[in-house]
Amino acid sequence: MGEKMTAIIEQAEKDLLHTYNRYQIVLEKGEGVYLYDAEGKKYLDFMAGIAVFAFGYNHPDFNAALTDQIGKIIHTSNYFYNEPAARAARRLKAISGMDRVFFTNSGAEAVEGALKAAVKYAWLKDSRRDHQVIAMNNSFHGRTYGALSVTGNEKYRLPFGTMPCDVRFADLNDFDSLLAVLTDKTCAVIIEPVQGEGGLVPAEEDFLKKVRALCDEKDILLIFDEIQCGMGRTGSMFAWQKFGIRPDIMTTAKALGCGIPVGAFLMTEKVGQNSLKAGDHGTTYGGNPLACAAINAVLDIYEKEDLVGHVGEVAPYLTGKLAWLKEKHPCITEQRGRGLMQGLVFDRPVGPVIASAMDKGLILINAGASIIRFVPALTIEKEHVDEMAAILDAAITETLEA
Ligand SMILES: *Cc1c(COP(=O)(O)O)cnc(C)c1O
Repeated sequence: MGEKMTAIIEQAEKDLLHTYNRYQIVLEKGEGVYLYDAEGKKYLDFMAGIAVFAFGYNHPDFNAALTDQIGKIIHTSNYFYNEPAARAARRLKAISGMDRVFFTNSGAEAVEGALKAAVKYAWLKDSRRDHQVIAMNNSFHGRTYGALSVTGNEKYRLPFGTMPCDVRFADLNDFDSLLAVLTDKTCAVIIEPVQGEGGLVPAEEDFLKKVRALCDEKDILLIFDEIQCGMGRTGSMFAWQKFGIRPDIMTTAKALGCGIPVGAFLMTEKVGQNSLKAGDHGTTYGGNPLACAAINAVLDIYEKEDLVGHVGEVAPYLTGKLAWLKEKHPCITEQRGRGLMQGLVFDRPVGPVIASAMDKGLILINAGASIIRFVPALTIEKEHVDEMAAILDAAITETLEA
């Protein structure tokens, strides 16, 4: 590392709260699927800002749309209407098949809203104040208190006291484990159709069908967290659409704004009519014209470039390359995931492999200590997959097999 990055890092370390173990790199600009650090080094990016930059960096249409909106108005508050929000809501409904939209500033905030809607829905039916939520072990739903309460990783919750939601945890794809924690107080089940942070584990169709039927029978609300697996990443606009199992409430964020902080929770008309009302929920920034102009620009680019279709073409190639790596390196024990959301499970920590890859100009991200996660831009091409696989191959050989 040179002087420039060292100086920036040393300063940041003195001022920022130490909540992240950051890589010792200062990123300065991006172009397509490549990133450049402050000293000009180029990286192939298979992390995409954690599954955010669906069409890569510095997209001219995206930049133009944002610049245009900045020239008009970027914030109004929710005391007023704005055209970009009206348009984005209509379009989100069209791609999701849901009926009502609430815009948030982040993923965790979308999960908060989804939980509040579900609990209010149940409260309107029976006035109980002790409703329970069922979530999955190894799930990840965000770091705010409500989202944390449904996050199935004890490590994240332990130091933070009593959680606001009374949550029972079941195992993904194990319907009996879900039945075991079901009570007459259960008001919602929250599931990631493909678990992201928890290790790239796809929910199985049969499991989701059973959960859907159970929820219908008991009037329990099914919430799908599509924050990471949605927006085309698994080959359909939202991962659940492949199975046709519609949730009652859905969350989205990450690629929704492609770098502009925005999320949303969406619901069916039934939930919309019977949950959050004026005064129940709000946010100052949520749905502001800049954020919604970003959503509209994102959706324009998805349509124009058929990004979801492209995932269908390039993802099998990634699957093949990862299979080749697994075949070659016995320290890789499993390959899993869907579309451009895949993982390689190693029999030991992957930190050294990721560090070595970064050294060689490839940015990767882990999911837990021993899984490498592949969540590149949806615009990735086969040649980029080849480049990634060659570097990763060398990094594994040099670190784990040296
Ligand atoms: C990232 C993520 C969140 C949290 O989103 P933030 O924008 O970081 O608050 C929630 N759920 C899932 C599945 C995620 O991947």
